[in-house]
Amino acid sequence: MRKKLVAGNWKMHGSIQANAALLDGLLAGLSDVSSEVLVCVPYPYLAQVSAKVQHSRLVLGAQNVSEHEAGAYTGEVAAAMLAEFGCAYVIVGHSERRELFGETDRIVAMKCAAVLAAGMSPVLCVGESLAERDAGQTKAVVSRQLSVVLDYLGVAGFAKMVVAYEPVWAIGTGLTAMPSQAQEVHAAIRAQVAALDPGVAEYLRILYGGSVKPQGAAELFAQADIDGGLVGGAALVAEDFLAICRAA
Ligand code: PEP
Repeated sequence: MRKKLVAGNWKMHGSIQANAALLDGLLAGLSDVSSEVLVCVPYPYLAQVSAKVQHSRLVLGAQNVSEHEAGAYTGEVAAAMLAEFGCAYVIVGHSERRELFGETDRIVAMKCAAVLAAGMSPVLCVGESLAERDAGQTKAVVSRQLSVVLDYLGVAGFAKMVVAYEPVWAIGTGLTAMPSQAQEVHAAIRAQVAALDPGVAEYLRILYGGSVKPQGAAELFAQADIDGGLVGGAALVAEDFLAICRAA
């Protein structure tokens, strides 16, 4: 059985004070949550959050990483640095990074490799734009994004990966994919991996992301191939995020 995972993506939000309040709220409400719960925080807060979640059920992650191991890359952060702060997961290839910062499928694949080499798990984001969905290209786009990483790492690399299906049109827009729409894409992702290695596919966790809110979360998470969620806006409100975690 795959253990459900609910990941919060704080994006570029937070302050030392606001983080402390949010984490206190989360830590106080985890007792009736059975899923794994991850918070992916901005780099400057890794030390604060790492100290706060130590000896708790909250798991720490980052939102980005350099594809390079070390060197003259001003402003970049290496995977080994994230591991030193206790990160277990790193979001890779979020659509905002692909769109706003020009990350290509190949860079995304290299970043996944860097995260794995540092002993952490990438949360690889894939998903189509509205124009691509309207043109009937959803599965082709997702399949291409996935296959570049599969080719680069080999399917064995997916034993430690998490995939997040995030339709770009649903991120931060309040529009959520219907559970059946999401399930169809999740099943296609699993089938693509299964064609290479059924065992890896069986254990691969595939999260849904895109305006996940407390209402509707249970129906999404009840789908056969939806193994949890990647949550943006609702992850900044402790009671909403906890309600989503309880639904998983
Ligand atoms: C995200 O940032 O990955 C995300 C899904 O955001 P939101 O939940 O706000 O749509």
